[in-house]
Amino acid sequence: MTKNTMKAGVLVGPGRVEIRDVPVPDMAPGMIRIRVRTCGVCGSDIHMWKEGKGWNPERPDNFIMGHEFCGVVTDSGDSDFRAGERVTFWANLYCGECDMCRSGREQLCRAVNGTNYIGFVCNGGYAEYFVGKAMNAYRLPDTVSDVAAGLIDPLMVAYHAVRRSGLKLHDKVLVVGSGIIAQLIGGLAKRAGASLLVMSRIDDRQTDKAREIGDFDAYVYGNASDRAERMRELSEGGFDVAFEAVGSGDSLAACLDGVKPGGEVVMIGNSIAPTVPFELNLAVLHEVRLTGSVSCTRREFEETIDLIARGIIDPEKYVTDVLPLAELQQALEMQVSPEGHVLKTVIRP
Ligand SMILES: [Zn+2]
Ligand SMILES: [Zn+2]
Repeated sequence: MTKNTMKAGVLVGPGRVEIRDVPVPDMAPGMIRIRVRTCGVCGSDIHMWKEGKGWNPERPDNFIMGHEFCGVVTDSGDSDFRAGERVTFWANLYCGECDMCRSGREQLCRAVNGTNYIGFVCNGGYAEYFVGKAMNAYRLPDTVSDVAAGLIDPLMVAYHAVRRSGLKLHDKVLVVGSGIIAQLIGGLAKRAGASLLVMSRIDDRQTDKAREIGDFDAYVYGNASDRAERMRELSEGGFDVAFEAVGSGDSLAACLDGVKPGGEVVMIGNSIAPTVPFELNLAVLHEVRLTGSVSCTRREFEETIDLIARGIIDPEKYVTDVLPLAELQQALEMQVSPEGHVLKTVIRP
């Protein structure tokens, strides 16, 4: 039996979530209800948390963030799911009818424009229960743990970025950024056959896991004045592919410094600033390919689950903390603390 109220982490103002008793969300046609097991804390949650609001212009009263979650079906509604099945939700909403959706590029859906995510425009998974569209739910094999399922979202972003790139066996790869997506891109690029994997980062607060896992061959300091020379030396003439996983002009510049003539820069980081300065001629005169990458396709979401299920990559290795819902506020504070060594926190509602 589902209760009438549930505990939820409600975004109540800038920098503040509170655990409140709120009504369990209602069912509707095409929806299923789950008891949430885990929900990963994402960098984009931090942006909303700082601002004290989600992306829904109507600003509902009890807004609940969280888009990286899994749980157990408690009400399958009119869907094919059964109560008791473990599922995760693809947070990427899509219409299924436009030309992009019909060509299998649902992340570019014209109706939702790449930004309509569960936990951004509608309530998400920092709660005991979640009700969402069955068309966005996917069964989880037993070999994907609840904690690992909390990392499917960043892993799908990394997976899509590596597949979008022209990365080939033995290519030299630069990853600019040290966050979870940067590290997962490194892990997948290694598995895709990179012969040299280098991370450019500006500090080491998040690299403990990367060093422990050992996929990266070398690290460079992203703000060093001799950055370009150091990268050229390490890669013996430049990287074939550079992944920008920060979303700033500086890190795009680091990619252009690192990539060889005719190479490729894949841009994954979302910029907070509406525009970033960019040395155009570095790209034009060296015929650098600039490739944007966002979310993933619906098919790639299924494949991301399969990558974990088959043991090709274990995202649980990247988790630094697993905390109860009651500690959501502390978990968010930890992310922005200058002393923090948080790479990935998973909440257990
Ligand atoms: Zn996320
Ligand atoms: Zn569409």
